[in-house]
Amino acid sequence: MKLHIETPLIESRAMSVITGRSVWIKLDALQPPGSFKIRGIGHACETYLAQGARRFVSSSGGNAGLAVAYAGRRLGVPVTVVVPETTTERAKELLQLENAEVIVHGISWQEANAFAQSLVGASDAFLHPFDDPLLWQGHATLVDEVFRSGLKPDAVVLSVGGGGLLSGVVEGLHRNGWSDIPVFAVETAGAASFHAAVRAGHTVELERITSIATSLGAKRVCEKAFQWSKNHRIHSVVVSDQSALSACERFLADHRILVEPACGASLAVAYENASELESFSNILVVVCGGATSTIDQIREWKSSKHAP
Ligand SMILES: *Cc1c(COP(=O)(O)O)cnc(C)c1O
Repeated sequence: MKLHIETPLIESRAMSVITGRSVWIKLDALQPPGSFKIRGIGHACETYLAQGARRFVSSSGGNAGLAVAYAGRRLGVPVTVVVPETTTERAKELLQLENAEVIVHGISWQEANAFAQSLVGASDAFLHPFDDPLLWQGHATLVDEVFRSGLKPDAVVLSVGGGGLLSGVVEGLHRNGWSDIPVFAVETAGAASFHAAVRAGHTVELERITSIATSLGAKRVCEKAFQWSKNHRIHSVVVSDQSALSACERFLADHRILVEPACGASLAVAYENASELESFSNILVVVCGGATSTIDQIREWKSSKHAP
């Protein structure tokens, strides 16, 4: 069984006109649970089920938790998601809609995660949101689909949180013989843990996350993402929250799809015709999606001068 769908790959006329180049968008916002995460998490859940797991445990109130809940329902495996008190009602509702058991524990993700880990018994599988080779293998299917379509981009733009998507896409480029295609790894200021790692020459822990793009809010990127930065052309790009929010609104107007600011960060690179794109003519933007934002929330953040 395959839990993710093959998503459309279309040219964004609006972005192509703005940049004066061909901009292709891979619409992973259309995955059933709302983001690309089901590619890797679906693959990991199926693997753990085959190995005998009887319950899936997650500590993500975001798109990773939603993907685990979706995979569990589809595979007939119970799912427990432990989230901190700060988790929005909307996120809890979305998890419950997928029949997941939601446990609220602790004031921060660290506490929720520690409690989730303590629940993991011998017959349970814990699903990490970004640091698992099975996840990267699954995320790499996004590139397999582009390869099969016959389009060869000369640059890929994607968002980076903990670096799972980045690790998976680069793995996909390599397994399709496309190791020459550079990647633009986009983060928002206030969540730029990949940028910090590249600058320091090793992964570093950010003191805190100050961006509204919570899905990019990993304080430290996985080691694999950093390693790829030494074995593949990866350019780190940092955009503002406001740029990411504006891109969400423009994308909704242009393509009628609502995405999170975490995804808007990548879209902003095209919408603002970033100088980084200068030497490329066929650009692939990964529309990673995200189900946890509403348009009201995006507009509220956008109009607030003191965001977050
Ligand atoms: C998880 C997520 C990201 C970041 O992915 P990582 O694998 O953590 O780097 C970006 N956008 C959305 C919508 C996400 O859910």
